[in-house]
Amino acid sequence: MLKSRLLSIRYFCFKSYLKCYCSKSNDIKKARHPNVTEDFVNKLSSAIGHENVNTSLPLRKQCGTDEGYHGTSASDVVVFPKSRDHICNVAKLCSRNLVPMVPRGTGTGLEHGVGAIKGGVCIDLSHMTSILKVNEEDFDCIVEPGVTRKTLGAHIRHTGLMFPIDPGADASLGGMASTSASGTNAVRYGTMKENVLNLEVVLADGSVLNTAGPNRRTRKSAAGYNLTELFVGSEGTLGIISKVMLRLHAVPAMMVSATCSFPTIANAVETVVQILQNNIRIARIELLDDVSMAISCSYSGLSYPIAHSLFLEFHGTEESVKAEADQVEEIIKMNEGSNFSWSADAEERNKLWKARHEIYYATLAQKPGYKSIITDTCVPISNLTEMITKTKEDVSESGLLGTIIGHVGDGNFHTQLLYDPKNKEEFELARTVEHKISERALSMNGTCTGEHGIGIGKMSFLEQELGPVGIQTMQLIKRALDPQNLMNPGKMLKMDV
Ligand SMILES: Cc1cc2nc3c(=O)[nH]c(=O)nc-3n(C[C@H](O)[C@H](O)[C@H](O)COP(=O)(O)OP(=O)(O)OC[C@H]3O[C@@H](n4cnc5c(N)ncnc54)[C@H](O)[C@@H]3O)c2cc1C
Repeated sequence: MLKSRLLSIRYFCFKSYLKCYCSKSNDIKKARHPNVTEDFVNKLSSAIGHENVNTSLPLRKQCGTDEGYHGTSASDVVVFPKSRDHICNVAKLCSRNLVPMVPRGTGTGLEHGVGAIKGGVCIDLSHMTSILKVNEEDFDCIVEPGVTRKTLGAHIRHTGLMFPIDPGADASLGGMASTSASGTNAVRYGTMKENVLNLEVVLADGSVLNTAGPNRRTRKSAAGYNLTELFVGSEGTLGIISKVMLRLHAVPAMMVSATCSFPTIANAVETVVQILQNNIRIARIELLDDVSMAISCSYSGLSYPIAHSLFLEFHGTEESVKAEADQVEEIIKMNEGSNFSWSADAEERNKLWKARHEIYYATLAQKPGYKSIITDTCVPISNLTEMITKTKEDVSESGLLGTIIGHVGDGNFHTQLLYDPKNKEEFELARTVEHKISERALSMNGTCTGEHGIGIGKMSFLEQELGPVGIQTMQLIKRALDPQNLMNPGKMLKMDV
């Protein structure tokens, strides 16, 4: 009785606060869902415990915001499930009451995947942080979705194993699976697509799917449709990932990082292309243009020449690493590169890759109060030189502060364009440059997103990229798994229900 009175008071405060807030602010997108009533919130509390249900506006706002430029879309209520059964209970209630569900990991996404643009329930997985099993002999592990990549890395360090996928942010592994994330190591170890063995997913109606079958964790399988890959990259639009089974890798005997610089960006990219075409098994190869190099050196205290640069890493035995580094040095010289220096010192390596991971925020710090639009194009390697050279021209011509950085070993790179959010013209200019770059990638047989996903920011590019039959096929899959369009509605695909 007392509990339900308290809940009523909390809900009343939430409604009054919301009314007051919405009238004062246009920062928040105001989609509220009519089916999230006091009774519905009470039922959520009964189903998973009132301490795991929160209607405070600051929290709902925070959970409806990510690291991208799209702003805030607050949900009506945030839930913090502690178990798979909690997620099932929430999904069943939402499904019965036709309330949208928006899963959330750590909110480091860049395309507003966590925005509750149609209101509803934010399902925040950040309290599900158990590492359930590490199978050292099989090189795999099973984790809850809220475990972050750095937590897993620290947990398995003593085993001689590593999980190599390293987006710049310390993202959750559920979120990384949902966005098909990758990072600096993908050129050698693959993306989430190659490293997820199985997923446990709660579907929109509350039923539980194991994408490769219950408890299966094999390296390969030819058993039916590849449901695991269907869910990797589905951005919360098909279900809520409640468990992730991941492939692990042996820490190599030797890891050597290296840097080098080039007179032109074309020289740098051509070097990458030739390294790959010579089939050298490089572990990391990242491009930083002259602008990002200047920012990175001053922000992260690096002392390298301010020029178009490559950050590289070699993994293997002492002999193999040396042989690969020698080969790469030859290619660098052939492309007018210089200042090739390498180090096996762990501290120096860590400093270099930390600086690489910090570039997004280092760039934002150049103009306090500014925001940025970031592209995520990926093209076949043979088109990379032309693609990046033209992108560099676009950025220079625009007059915007923009950097080019990227996982060029996969043909994937980012252009981060800064704009003043109070200046509509500057924002439109940044959008125009973004469109030009993404459309060029599509015209070169590439994709608009190598790793960040579609969210709300790249829906029109997805339509161009897949064509009508591709989009219709995805809509059919979405309808089959989520007929009421409750899972993260308004993202990735336009649906007419
Ligand atoms: C500085 C910086 C650097 C970055 N660098 C990289 C990079 O190098 N490579 C890269 O790939 N990305 C990068 N990103 C983007 C981001 O880190 C990734 O997209 C990451 O995978 C998002 O994980 P998250 O836990 O933060 O997910 P969130 O932002 O919380 O969610 C992202 C999407 O996944 C869905 N989702 C989250 N958890 C679940 C779940 N358990 N079940 C179902 N759906 C779920 C959400 O609904 C949303 O649509 C970077 C971002 C920043 C800010």
